[in-house]
Amino acid sequence: MIRNRRARIVATLGPASRDPAMVEALARASVDVFRLNFSHGTHEDHAAALAAVRAAELATGRPLAALADLQGPKLRLGKFVNGKIAVAPKQRLRLDQDPTPGDESRVCVPHPELFAAMTPGVTLLVDDGKVRLRVVETDAKGVMVEVVQGQELSDRKGVALPGAVIPLAALTAKDRQDLAFALRIGVDWVALSFVQRPADMAELRQLVQGRAAVMAKIEKPAALTQLDEILDLCDGVMIARGDLGVELEPEEVPPAQKTILRAARRRGVPVIVATQMLESMTHSATPTRAEASDVANAVYEGADALMLSAETASGDYPLEAASIMSRIIARVEQDPRWPELMGAERDALEDEDVDALVAAARAAAERASVACLVAFTTTGGTARRLARERALQPVLALTPHLAVARRLALVWGLEPRVGANPASLEDMTDEAVDLAARLGLAGSGERVLILAGTPFGAPGAANLLRLAHAPRI
Ligand code: PGA
Ligand code: MN
Repeated sequence: MIRNRRARIVATLGPASRDPAMVEALARASVDVFRLNFSHGTHEDHAAALAAVRAAELATGRPLAALADLQGPKLRLGKFVNGKIAVAPKQRLRLDQDPTPGDESRVCVPHPELFAAMTPGVTLLVDDGKVRLRVVETDAKGVMVEVVQGQELSDRKGVALPGAVIPLAALTAKDRQDLAFALRIGVDWVALSFVQRPADMAELRQLVQGRAAVMAKIEKPAALTQLDEILDLCDGVMIARGDLGVELEPEEVPPAQKTILRAARRRGVPVIVATQMLESMTHSATPTRAEASDVANAVYEGADALMLSAETASGDYPLEAASIMSRIIARVEQDPRWPELMGAERDALEDEDVDALVAAARAAAERASVACLVAFTTTGGTARRLARERALQPVLALTPHLAVARRLALVWGLEPRVGANPASLEDMTDEAVDLAARLGLAGSGERVLILAGTPFGAPGAANLLRLAHAPRI
């Protein structure tokens, strides 16, 4: 099963999609990475979803990645006696730390860390920005706010302070439990929501200890100010446009997407464009043409992967959404303008051994009509550096480790497969060309360019480039 496209698809599993038959259908239709969203569902739900992903992998013969998405320190209002209250502009309301249910006059904000940042004049956004509150007075135990905009407040709605860095721990108690569980069941990637500082990612890395690849979700404007330092601690990054768009004005989101994407591509960190990509397909069998255009734009920008959220988790058309996303990607990749547009986001190579080899591979592949590239990769590093170059040929990434192959399922243009370490150069060549031919990546007698590091199996930079030919049949 080889994809007819280079950009990858991440689909969120949920009530509409987590049964094994649907997961397999999604994998066959187009999905490369399945997201388990720990903001919803029980541990049993996620364990069952992961089992379905592993079964689909077995059925399709193609490594699939499972991404555990931790809720992170999302700020929320407390509860109300009647579940909700009506509000109107100019109305005043007190926010305090008293956990008893609120009413028209007051409500709890169960985050002591927030109060220091709530000084007079500060704006609070509640419920994805539907309600806007402004702090007018503060005292020892709380703050008085005035409603600027909005009609209703209800239990546990999200709260944001645009721009502020709140002194919150990177992971909540729930995140720690979810992380331990996700690692126990053996997910491939862990994403952390609401990353604010590099230290947040350092803490996640420390807890994960290499048992999964780690990803930062960029959804706080504060994270943009230390983006490079955060990316240095990431194996992957997600442009989480949903929450990012709550604190940013609409016109600020597309440039932020470009900024994150370019910084990630420069480092060779796989980058996911996420949220609302085919939003209307939650309840419609076809997308709006503007949504199709958003998906296409991410492909022209050279994103590694594009993500579906509610469309596949709880929507009425999960399979259609994934299929249409795949069709749009494949269509863009047939556009003769695509390589050039995608190349605009590419940066110069770094002066590393592996990059010298990758540059040579790319140049040779361009000039000598190579059918495919094969990277022997122990840790995945060589394959990722090659993917960073966005060579147009497919890249067969051969690793002895299934865990590495699964992580690579997220990366642009890679076809990860598990293969034993070759015993010799002859072995390496045979294995590469045979598999490339078997998967249909190289036709009879076509050129195959192989990258490897010797001695085989020792992690370290690639140091060998070899041209071979697929068997003649
Ligand atoms: P979420 O993250 O779906 O977990 O909220 C993505 C986003 O905010 O865009
Ligand atoms: Mn989010």
